[in-house]
Amino acid sequence: MIPTSRGAASLARYEHLYIGGQWVAPQDGGQIESIDPSTGKPWALVAYGGKRDVDRAVAAAREAFNGPWRKMPGWERAALLRRLAEIYQRRAPELAILESRDSGRALREARADVGAHHNWYFWFASLCDKIWGRTIPMDDSVHVFTSREPLGVVGAITPWNAPLLTTTWKLGPALASGCTVVLKPAELTPVTALELGRIIEEAGFPPGVVNVVPGYGKDGAGEHLVSHPGVDKIAFTGEGDTARAILKTGAHTLKRFSFELGGKAPHILFADADIEQALNAATSSAWAVCGQSCALGSRVLVERPIYDRVVDEFALRAASVRVGMPLDEATHMGPQASDEQLKKTLSYIEIGRAEGAELVAGGRRIEHGDMAQGYFVEPTVFAGARNDMRLAREEIFGPVATIIPFDGEAEAVAIANDTSYGLTAGLWSRDVGRAHRVAAQIRAGIVWVNTYRYIRWSTPYGGFKSSGWGRENGIEALDNYLETRTTVISTTGQFPNPYIN
Ligand code: NAD
Repeated sequence: MIPTSRGAASLARYEHLYIGGQWVAPQDGGQIESIDPSTGKPWALVAYGGKRDVDRAVAAAREAFNGPWRKMPGWERAALLRRLAEIYQRRAPELAILESRDSGRALREARADVGAHHNWYFWFASLCDKIWGRTIPMDDSVHVFTSREPLGVVGAITPWNAPLLTTTWKLGPALASGCTVVLKPAELTPVTALELGRIIEEAGFPPGVVNVVPGYGKDGAGEHLVSHPGVDKIAFTGEGDTARAILKTGAHTLKRFSFELGGKAPHILFADADIEQALNAATSSAWAVCGQSCALGSRVLVERPIYDRVVDEFALRAASVRVGMPLDEATHMGPQASDEQLKKTLSYIEIGRAEGAELVAGGRRIEHGDMAQGYFVEPTVFAGARNDMRLAREEIFGPVATIIPFDGEAEAVAIANDTSYGLTAGLWSRDVGRAHRVAAQIRAGIVWVNTYRYIRWSTPYGGFKSSGWGRENGIEALDNYLETRTTVISTTGQFPNPYIN
């Protein structure tokens, strides 16, 4: 269903949580008004859950884990995941519209992103019956083998910047591994998670395999999920400080955690690069998702001989970004996802100015026409920055490119690695030796050479350093949701009495 209603009286309504295969009213939650960031006004009224709702969802997930889901052979789980993929693919155009409304992403961008998610489900479906261990050769007295066991009940906690993508990256491998899931989307963007509940229902998953409980984080459904002794693992995407709080809250349970956190990616442009291609990638990566993605190359490191040209081009291209209403087909970049995020970006623009970086494009909130009430900001470029500026060290999560000049390979590597983050990195050079040399020295979970943001279902993604724990995507993603059991079987049954001699 695509809500088309306008105005407070006709908000789109999502009044139920999805728990144990049923659409139920919250027991101790209520209703969240989801704000359309392009107008600053509510567009949907969405149920959110409290502690009792999380308790119900965890109980349903446990029952499914101990019952039908656990007993189901891998190839049958695969069939259900394929069904989910097919329905998702069919419904992707509507899901993209909902994501655009809820998060403010430009529709053309949401469409390209959401339109690819079914590939993740198809790929993880193909792994369901290929989760096996190893035989470990010892001697003739024993037969030793390992098997991989699903962890159990997973609490999946997702952010607002790419709600469906971050959910897909968790749900695919969790279900392929045989886990069950309680999904808690961000309070800013809860709508698509509930639509996903409908897809799960239509695909015919046993009740309780996936439960959807929107809610708040601190002091809300998120925190309760983390501290819940019935949850075996938290799969989280969000901010580092939230991850630290989650670790404290969940420590007493000793449950498992995986974290996909922030980034401050270096995007290195060497003078010998194909500069036109490098500029295409570097500028798109600065302003995609209105700058609200952990993968973006927010620190653009430029070798001195091409520095002036790159700065001029950045400024020129910033002016050609069409900022506008997200559902308008012509729009390249929508608003920031929330008033809070807009304020954060504007405050960093002030910090950049005060630190002495040179503002060469943008820098202001957009306050005219249709956009006046929304959270729009101009694509912004700071040049002449240094890596010790806050502009270069802290994650802004807005459409702000920070350009830093460098001289030579060694300095590029030093600047690239001089950060507490280590999620993604890019480099552009026509020298294949240099490409390998530099890539091998960068402390980041993924390094792109002569391309940027190439991310697929089969390519492991995750952070070094404070960018996270564990990997999503790829076969490695299954490790987040599996335990290894080692079985040792004696072939003789002999066990000598140690106390005889
Ligand atoms: P956030 O940390 O504020 O919130 C993320 C989720 O955590 C939300 O669902 C929220 O309700 C919940 N939450 C908040 N406090 C909680 C608590 N105490 N206990 C349990 N749950 C809690 O993050 P955000 O602002 O929604 O997202 C932006 C951040 O996400 C950025 O830092 C960005 O870099 C990061 N991110 C990382 C990746 C990645 O793959 N590495 C991808 C997307 C976003």
